[in-house]
Amino acid sequence: MEYVCPICNGMATYLLRCPHCGKQMENRGTVVEFLDDYSPYLAMDITQLVDGAAHDQCVHLFYCEECKYDKRVSIQRIKM
Ligand SMILES: [Zn+2]
Ligand SMILES: [Zn+2]
Repeated sequence: MEYVCPICNGMATYLLRCPHCGKQMENRGTVVEFLDDYSPYLAMDITQLVDGAAHDQCVHLFYCEECKYDKRVSIQRIKM
């Protein structure tokens, strides 16, 4: 059995409205939380650890062009 994110796999669309201006926010893809300050080399190692630990969630970054506001949303992965 495998966990897949329905958004990454194009099975679902997550629509999120900006709390400030009400516009639809743009899906900027996935992020692995708290890795922003690490080098790419380190990030790769940690990503693997995180992958092992949190199999059931995929974190997507949504962004509002208008307000320069971004928000991370944890998407529940589904078992296939
Ligand atoms: Zn995803
Ligand atoms: Zn906005």
